[in-house]
Amino acid sequence: MASLQRSRVLRCCSCRLFQAHQVKKSVKWTCKACGEKQSFLQAYGEGSGADCRRHVQKLNLLQGQVSELPLRKNRSPQRVAG
Ligand SMILES: [Zn+2]
Repeated sequence: MASLQRSRVLRCCSCRLFQAHQVKKSVKWTCKACGEKQSFLQAYGEGSGADCRRHVQKLNLLQGQVSELPLRKNRSPQRVAG
């Protein structure tokens, strides 16, 4: 057992990616995927780092069934050429 550090599952308000972050005093956090800085609003899970990472994978898988994971691909919205 490594540490008592607790983590939370957070969701980016910009790219919608779930990710595990260590619990800090600050309410500010930065998305690992798109770098968006935001305030902590809601935790989708809480526990050890390993627990949270497992939960994150599950959530992102469920989400990925709708669309591909938005990892670093900045797709601009398609426009109808006029
Ligand atoms: Zn993001």
